[in-house]
Order: sequence, then C-alpha cells, then structure tokens
Amino acid sequence: MPNLIAIVGRPNVGKSAVFNRIAGKRIAIVHDEPGVTRDRVSATVDWHGESFELVDTGGIGLLKGEKTDDPITKAALVQVQVAVESAQVIILVVDAKEGLMPLDREVADQLREAGKPVVIAVNKVDNRSNEPAAGEFDALGFESVCHLSAMHDTGIKPLVKTALRYLPEAEQASVPESGEGEPPMSTPEPLKLAIVGRPNVGKSSIINSLIRSDRVIVNDMPGTTRDAVDVPFTVETEGRHQDFLLIDTAGLRKRARIGDSLEFYSAKRAETSIGRADLALLVLDAEMGITEQDKKIGDLITKRKKACIVLVNKWDLVEPHLSEARKEERKRRKKRTGQSTEADKPMLTLAEFGEWVQEQLFFLSYAPVIFSSAKSGFNLDRLLEVIRYVQDQWQQTVPTALLNRVLHEAIEQQQPVSVTGERLKFYYATQKQTAPPTFLLFVNRDELLSEAYTKYLAREIRNAFGFEGCPITLIAKPRPRAVDPIREDEAGKVSKGSKPTAKAGISKRSGRQRKR
Ligand code: GDP
Repeated sequence: MPNLIAIVGRPNVGKSAVFNRIAGKRIAIVHDEPGVTRDRVSATVDWHGESFELVDTGGIGLLKGEKTDDPITKAALVQVQVAVESAQVIILVVDAKEGLMPLDREVADQLREAGKPVVIAVNKVDNRSNEPAAGEFDALGFESVCHLSAMHDTGIKPLVKTALRYLPEAEQASVPESGEGEPPMSTPEPLKLAIVGRPNVGKSSIINSLIRSDRVIVNDMPGTTRDAVDVPFTVETEGRHQDFLLIDTAGLRKRARIGDSLEFYSAKRAETSIGRADLALLVLDAEMGITEQDKKIGDLITKRKKACIVLVNKWDLVEPHLSEARKEERKRRKKRTGQSTEADKPMLTLAEFGEWVQEQLFFLSYAPVIFSSAKSGFNLDRLLEVIRYVQDQWQQTVPTALLNRVLHEAIEQQQPVSVTGERLKFYYATQKQTAPPTFLLFVNRDELLSEAYTKYLAREIRNAFGFEGCPITLIAKPRPRAVDPIREDEAGKVSKGSKPTAKAGISKRSGRQRKR
C-alpha cells in the first residue's frame, strides 16, 4: 500500500490548486499536448525520488440533494472522514485572505482527535499584505504551518518536504545514502518490458539507443548485451531508481536473420513476448503509417491485458516533410477565403498525429502515444519518463473509500439502463489487484452489468485515478451474503435495513459532486 497524503479544507481555499502544484506535472507527463492535465482526485507523485499517493478530497462529500441546514459544514466533515480513513498525513488547506474561520477550527479538532499528522497549508499568501493574517493559523495548534501561494507557485516545496517528514518511510529515506556505486534502492519485482512491432520499425535500434542513455544503467551484464535474452536495467531520474527487465532481446536479433519468413516469426515473437511482459512498447514506423499487422499486435496487447505505450519511431523521416507542410499551410491560410472544413486541415502537430494514432488504434486508447527517433535520439528521454510513469500507474492502489465515491458519482450521473425490467443495483467496489488494475463490483446480479456500462464505469475510474497506459478490468460479482443491500426506491430514499456494512458502500447519501 503506497503512502497516502490527503488534502482537505473548506471549499474555495484552493485545495485543487495545491494538488495540481504538487502533482500536476507528473500527471501531464504522458500527454504530448501541454494543458491537458486531467481533473482527478488522486495521483501518484514522485517527489525527488520519494513516491506517494496524493488525494485531493476537493468536492468529496458535497452532498448532492442533501437536505441539511449547513451543507458546507457537513461536506467538509465528510471529506475529513474519508481522508482520515485512508491517509498517513493530512494537509489542511486554509485561506490567508479570509483568515481563520470557525469551520477550519472544527475540521482541525476532528483531525486532532483522529491522531493523524497534520500540516497546515496557509494558501493565498500571495503578497506581504497577507502575511499577518497567515500567523493566526498557529492557533489551530499544529506544529507544522507552511505559508504558500498555489497561484504563484511559492512555498510548495517546503510544504511537501514537511508532509514527507511524517510519512512512515521518510525516516528510512532520510538516512544518509551509503557509499556511491552501491546498488540503488528499487522495487523488488522489476517491471517486464517487451519491445514489439513489425520488422524494421526500429525495435533493435531503440534498445541500443536506450542502453546507451546516461540515465540507463544496464545491470549485471556478463559480456555484452548481444548474448542476453533478458536484459535487466535500471532507470535513474531525479535521484530515483526503477528496475526493469527488457525481455526477449535475443528474439529481435535472431529474427533479423530469418529473412523471408520475417512476418511470421515476428508475429510469433510478439505473441510470446507480450505474454511474458507487464508493459509492451508497441513500435510503429512513422513513415509507413499504421498497418494491419500493427493493429493485430495492438489487439494482442489488449487481449492479454498488458500495459502499453505506443511509440511512433523514425520521426526524423517525417519531421522535415511536416515543417514543409506547416509552411504551406501558413501560406494557404493567408490566401484562404474561409471555406475550408475541418477535414481539409492537414495534421501538423504532434498532438494531432497522436490523436490520429489513437483513433486508428482505438481499442488501445489507454496507451499514451510518443514520437521518437532512435536515429537522432529524439524523445528517448521522454520515453524513459513515460515508462516509469506507466509503471507507477500499473502498481497504483486506489483507496476503497475514494473508489466508491467516484463510482457513486458516476452512477448518479448516468444510471444503468435496464433491458429486462430488472434494475442493476450496486453495493460496493474494491480494487482486487494491481498489475493489471482489476476491480470487483458487488451488484445484485452480475449478468445485468452490460458491456457498455462497464466501459462507462472504467472510463470514470480512469478520469479520476489516471491509470494511463494500463487496461482497467471490472468484474461484477453477486453481492456476498455478509453485505446488506442498500435498497433504494425511485426517489432515492434509503429504505429500512439498508445500512451498508461495508464502510465505503456506494450509497446515494454519500455522494459527492466534483467540479469538472
Ligand atoms: P527492428 O526490425 O524493428 O528491430 O528494426 P531495426 O532496429 O533493425 O531498424 C530497421 C532499420 O530502420 C535500420 O536500418 C535502422 O537503422 C532504421 N531505423 C531505426 N530507427 C530509426 C529512426 O528513428 N530513424 C531512421 N531514419 N531510421 C531508423
């Protein structure tokens, strides 16, 4: 279970701004287009080599349709409950401009009672005039009070540093590192990576370029990489090490000698490699476009439920044409009278190409698309970053309470359609396993969960928690006997005997509203 830091606070104090400052860059990593960070509630953050799960409770517990005298108070308190349940450290965000509010005190009292470490984040200290107000938050009685401005990106580092000090593993991490050259700390099970694709797309060249990268340490190699079938290597970025096993590299070379039955052997090899891998890197040739065989290999990756990154290689061959095309397009635009349609527009940016690739490989839409050149080295560093990022996603564990709240909201927004007249009812959900991320949904009758609705729920889980590069599997299970049903009538009222035994049951009452 990863370390979890939760952000709580009254509405409008800037919780999501603080969340984005801490996690934003990491989330954006798999998208080539800047500014397409997703609005989500949880992110795996790698902070200078330390990894933790950050949860934005923003909006959680804003009770839709809840009839209460003081919904805001209630909302804030529900959030705190969720955070306290699952987090090791809590960041309580307060607003320097507004000053200390009664609700801040109430939330702080609750947190104190729960005995979890709390860091007060006094946000909106945008200028000196706000500083006097910031001092009054010492009255909340917590040792750690950090002043910051999420808007101006000041004070974020000290805040995270302070929060990390309270994490259980922080003590070990802060022990001075022993002598240089020692084997780096890393996860026990290295991620198995397979590089697959048609012949001549550049798989071997990519391996060779990666192995030459300064950030890649090839471990334990007797002789050269030439003889090895599986090549263990470590990627080092920002002081953090991650272990990988590049599988089946010998297959790549053998195949090169086979000659005329190239396609057959390469397909066979891809199949075996994908079966053994956790993460498949599907290499395409930018110049050749996407062929049927590329699609077949892609299909295999999804069928075997493997993590995937699509790498469009040989970008160096396309880029000059693209520059030309961009120039042409600019000229045309000058002349144009405004009758062109969207369909006439040529693809000129990486983002547009990325979208096109994802359309072609629609069944692999979870895979981030990267453009690279093994020849010039273009984007190979980025590829390493994305591999590392997807590994984190592959091993991400979602707290049960959060998962249920996200699913509850999804169900609220779009109820399942009943074909047979019998309504599908949900009880609760839980993450059964990581790698691949698999969730169990307890329902009244599993056969009522349609494929379309399963896809919808998986999409909502992805929107909330990312899982970039990973397939998401949902398994419907008939409710275990131990769980009481949450019966609801048409008006959404919880009927008698409906108290969920599972703490995090999906009930209409515990719903939350997220700003999107
Ligand atoms: P594999 O069959 O997929 O392993 O492909 P190889 O790595 O053997 O590459 C096939 C050919 O493409 C070789 O001639 C490489 O030099 C060439 N190649 C590989 N990557 C690139 C690239 O990014 N740009 C260009 N221009 N050529 C490349």
